[in-house]
Parts: sequence; structure tokens; C-alpha cells
Amino acid sequence: MFYHKKRLIFTISLLLILGFLITSLSTYYVSLVALRAQITNNELPITSDTIQSEFQKDLLKPQYIASIMANDTFLIDWVIDGEKSSKKMHDYLRRIQNTYGTVSSFFVSVNTNRYYHPSGVIQHVSENNPIDAWYFRFINTNNAYELNINNDSNNKNKLTVFVNYKVYDVNNNFIGVTGVGVSIENIEELLINYKRRYRQSIYVTDPRGAIQLSSSPEQTLNKNIFELTKNQLNATVLMQRAGKQLSYTKEGNRYHANIRYLPQFDWFLVVEQSESLIEDELFNTLLINLLIYLVIAIFVVLSTNFVITTYQRRLEKMAVTDKLTGIYNRQAFDLLIEQKIEECRRDHLSMCVAILDIDHFKKINDQYGHLAGDKVIQALAEKMNKNIRESDIISRWGGEEFVLMLNGCSLDKGKVIVEKLRLSLKELVIEYQGKTITFTSSVGLTELLKDDTKDSLIQRADDALYKAKSNGRDQLQVGTGEVRS
Ligand code: GH3
Ligand code: MG
Ligand code: MG
Repeated sequence: MFYHKKRLIFTISLLLILGFLITSLSTYYVSLVALRAQITNNELPITSDTIQSEFQKDLLKPQYIASIMANDTFLIDWVIDGEKSSKKMHDYLRRIQNTYGTVSSFFVSVNTNRYYHPSGVIQHVSENNPIDAWYFRFINTNNAYELNINNDSNNKNKLTVFVNYKVYDVNNNFIGVTGVGVSIENIEELLINYKRRYRQSIYVTDPRGAIQLSSSPEQTLNKNIFELTKNQLNATVLMQRAGKQLSYTKEGNRYHANIRYLPQFDWFLVVEQSESLIEDELFNTLLINLLIYLVIAIFVVLSTNFVITTYQRRLEKMAVTDKLTGIYNRQAFDLLIEQKIEECRRDHLSMCVAILDIDHFKKINDQYGHLAGDKVIQALAEKMNKNIRESDIISRWGGEEFVLMLNGCSLDKGKVIVEKLRLSLKELVIEYQGKTITFTSSVGLTELLKDDTKDSLIQRADDALYKAKSNGRDQLQVGTGEVRS
């Protein structure tokens, strides 16, 4: 029984642990796959879309202003008139700057190479000056306008988007370049914010991988994204993957990236997200789940153990108890007597065994009914149980027969005790449905002898009982070794 219980508890524990492990691990992997899909299908494209449209929104206004300037009759007439009053031009540029809140506005004359700026300082563009390279490159293109990101030398070298527009006179002669510069600080702020909020790294790079804008400007600005990604990203990948997803492993971590092409600048927007953070969070959830499951498993195993132990005790008790009287049954007696014989032999103690049988019990059953008979048996058992010592054992041997073991009791003493008991039973009055029932009983008593086995001992007591019955009932007879022989 104990072995079965252990095996059952072990099986339940194993099933619970296996079940919980399989559920937790499958949930973990399903969540990981779902989150991966969430990153690549939703989060990264949404960030890319937002940043791309933010770029467009921020650039639309300066493009519009520059196009107005390029077509402004004042500006065109002033150039045709020979650029007479620089003050007028400076005032015009200042008004543009103040009205539209740009960080800079300018006009460069093709004829005089003069660079007009709202500050009033007139500079000259020169092919030998590297900061003027943009001008000479632009005038040699066929484009009517261009966007150019540069550090504004007139504005603390801040990163500025310049919208450069070519200006033509009424005869379509190219007379200069005008435009405005706007700060892209707010775009940079947006990138930094995104990194904080969504833990995504965002880079804007040129086709050669040089980082122009970044969500961590202090660490990565002016670095090369090809080097940062250990060449997982390179010029070919950029070109091929523009507008698509890319996944790669870098320093043992898995990354997902969304790449967009920004045609206005010939730049690429790269939004990158690491899987490790999500994996860590999921792993923590997995551990918490497993911990909860472990607590549940321990609780289930403990309560199962408790229930089984309780039932086991109940069953054990039922197996040795007589249902009608609540005293030991015959099986229990068989086990107990062998044990007691051994104990008495070991401790050199005497021991008596008595078998008691109700006289003419059939008549009680016949006269008062079977239930009344039951009641008599119960009353007798109760009375005997009350009147014996703690060390003595009483059990129901069969129908209306009872066996009494008197441990550490000599035959002489046993005779007195058993006779007293028999007489007290004779005086027992059982009330049943308004009637009173009394009975007598016969008892066979014997003492454990040196060579006795359990069977020989009981046989002698039974023989004595038989003698009591045949002698007229309602009496005690003692079986001794001599009588038997
Ligand atoms: P004797 O003096 O020779 O012992 O006569 P008796 O009538 O008692 O004879 P016997 O021992 O052969 O009969 C026992 C009867 O007890 C037979 C059976 O119907 C009845 N009996 C056995 N077990 C139960 C029980 O649990 N409840 C009741 N009511 N009767 C039982
Ligand atoms: Mg009988
Ligand atoms: Mg009887």
C-alpha cells in the first residue's frame, strides 16, 4: 500500500511537472514567435512610416518657402537691377527668416558670387573654399532644387537642412541660388524619443553607410553603420532591402531591421530592434509561471498525499474493525493473537484466552427479529469493551461469538475476571421497541501453555466452550492441557 502511494504521488508529480513544463515552454515559444512577427510586421514598419512622414512634413514647409523666394519678383528685379542696395536684400532675407521661423535664409548671386545672409555680412562663395562646395556642385546639376543637410556655419554649426532653389530671370537666365535652412533638431529628438519608448535604434545613413542622424547621437553620429553592424548591413544590402525587413545576428544577439530609402536626400532610414530584451522579458515571465506552477504542483501533491493518507488510515481501520460493534474483527484478532503470544513468551508473562457465545441466540432473533439480535450483539460488545483492561483485547470472532485475550493474566485470575464479566452480561437488559431482552452466555477459558500454537490455544478454549454448552449453558468452563489430553 505504502509502495503504491509513493508510486501514485510520484506519477502525479511527474505528470504535473511535465504538463506545466510543456505548457509553459510552448507558451514561451509561441509568444516569442508572435512577438518576433509583431516586431517585423508592425513595430518596425510603423516607426519607419512615422519617421519618414515626419521627415516629409518637416521638409515640405522650407521647400515651399524656397520656391516662393525663387519666384519672387522683388528678388529677381533686384538682381537684374544690379544688386544695388545690399540692405534691401538683407531686409528681405531677414523678413523671410522672421516670418517663417527658419534658422537661415540666403541668396547667392551667379554674377557677383556674393552670398547674402540676414546678418548683413556679405560673403563671397569661392571654389577654393570647402564650405562652398555645395554651391558649385548644385549649379552644375540639372536639378531645379535640392535638399542638402549641412552644418550651418552661420548658426553654431548646427545640423541644418538647406533647401536650395535655382533662380531664373524672366528670360530664363540663371541668376542665382536662393533658399532657407531649417533645423532638424526635432527629427533628432523624435529618434531619441523612439529609442527611449520602443527601445529601437534608429539611424539615417548615406549610401556609403555614414550615419547622418541617430537615435543615440553621442555614440554613433559620424560613425559608419556597416562597421556598427559588423557588415551585416552593407551598401548592397541597403540598396536591395530598401523598404524591406532584414534579420541578422550581431554579437550573439538577434536583430531585426526595417530599411527605407529617403529619396530627397539619397539617404537610408534604418530602424533596428534587438530581440534580446523581449526574450529577457519573456524568459522572466516563463520563470514566474514555472514558479507559480511549482507552488501549485507542491500544493496538489501535498493535498493528494493528505487525502490518500486519510483514506488509507480509514481503510486500514475498516479492515480490522467489525462494522456492527466497532471492536476488532476476526482478521485483526488473528494478527494480534500471534503478536501477543510472542510478546508474552518473550516477557515470560501468562496469558488467557476466552471464547464467549450467547446462549440460544437464534431464539432472540426469532422472537424479536434480526435487528433486535443486532442490538443485543452491540450491547454485549459495548459492555465487554467497557469492563476489560486497557491491555486486554476483545474481538468479534463470528456471529454472536467473541474472543477475549487477557494479557499478562494467569488462569486463576482469568477465571475470576471472565466469570465476573459473564455475570455482568447476564444482568444486561436491552430495551427494544418497548420490550426488554436479556440473555445468558457460555464461556470457554484457557491459558497459554508452553508448546501452544495459536490454533491449539484457540482450540482448547473452543473445546471448553463446547463443554459449557453441553453442560447446560450459562456457565464458564476452563480448558487445561490435561483436559485436552
Ligand atoms: P447456542 O446456545 O447453541 O449457541 O444456540 P444458538 O441459537 O446461539 O446457536 P448458534 O450459535 O448456532 O446460532 C447463532 C445464530 O446467530 C445463527 C445466526 O442466525 C445468528 N447470527 C449470526 N450473526 C448474526 C448477526 O450479526 N446478527 C443477528 N441478529 N444474528 C446473527
Ligand atoms: Mg454461536
Ligand atoms: Mg449461540
